[in-house]
Amino acid sequence: MIDSVTEVVSALQELEQDNEEQSERINNLFETGLNLDKRVVNNAGITDHHALIPTNLVKNVNLINALTDDEKKIFNLIVNRLLCALDQPEDSSFTVENATVKDCEKKPPRRYNDSTLLSVMENIDNLIDDKVLKTNIKGKGIGTPATRAAIISDRKPMEIKHKSKYDGEPIADCPRCKKKNIDRKVYETKDNFTCEGGKSCGFTIWKKDKFNYYFNTITKKKAIDLIAGKQVMMKRKNKEGKEYEALHFLSDDGVYINFKLVLKEKSEPLGLCPRCKEQGAEKQILEGKMNFYCESGKDGCGWTIWKKNNKPEVTVTAKHIKELLTQGYTNFSIKIHENSPVTKKYCIVNNGKYVNFREYNG
Ligand SMILES: [Zn+2]
Ligand SMILES: [Zn+2]
Repeated sequence: MIDSVTEVVSALQELEQDNEEQSERINNLFETGLNLDKRVVNNAGITDHHALIPTNLVKNVNLINALTDDEKKIFNLIVNRLLCALDQPEDSSFTVENATVKDCEKKPPRRYNDSTLLSVMENIDNLIDDKVLKTNIKGKGIGTPATRAAIISDRKPMEIKHKSKYDGEPIADCPRCKKKNIDRKVYETKDNFTCEGGKSCGFTIWKKDKFNYYFNTITKKKAIDLIAGKQVMMKRKNKEGKEYEALHFLSDDGVYINFKLVLKEKSEPLGLCPRCKEQGAEKQILEGKMNFYCESGKDGCGWTIWKKNNKPEVTVTAKHIKELLTQGYTNFSIKIHENSPVTKKYCIVNNGKYVNFREYNG
């Protein structure tokens, strides 16, 4: 076969030598070598006959010249087809001009209405894949022409029951799944409150909180509140191991569920802490509910002045503290006798542990 193809192409070369374009094409084919791989020429693939190709008869120029115009067109088609097949495959690149991108939208299947539903019921076999079933149902449909309309008008909205492997009512929507627009619920189990999505979600609050504050027991109410984003009182320990209660909120980084301490809202800073300043640190004095304190906290410098002060017996305000921190003294109104307050200048003395007031003498 390979030999005869080569022979035919040689004959075509002879035949087409007056046709410049075609003869150049054939010359090129011979130069680069005919592509005679198995996809083009394969003797094993021939059963009844091979593809339509020119035969050795192309050697007979008179025969070709005698073809009618229509015959010549068909002949050229076959020649072209053969030459294309014998060409070496090559990677070609080209530039496209004026390409436009058409915006298309894929529509969901239309909903049925009463009339399309009638037709679906009549030709229900169209929607059946099972061949045997399809054949058996064909021509029968659902209902009869007389009953179909009534079947449709009698249909009731289907109630889809939410099935879950968990018992009882869910306690909340799963907040983690909600973020992904998946409707899953959180159920209470013996040991935890967990998303019905199981491992695919992983949202779980353990009743015995062994990871965060092991001594807490999370009740159903606490779990509901935490999931709802509320702040919940929980025990925790300070650095000395002493227990105290504080507000916590649920934090979910997508992997771990944690209870995080609600940080006190910081008040407007009143001035730099003098005690920290001595150590070269810049810490602010803040106003608390009962006191003014250094933001370095309990484990920090410990600078504290109580609002209800004993010596002298006054109520210390933020204004006093600001003055003390900036100008070094403040005026207190001291009651010495009933109804006769005396204004006295005070400054603060820092003895390393406590912060005391003393009269200011310039
Ligand atoms: Zn979930
Ligand atoms: Zn301080």
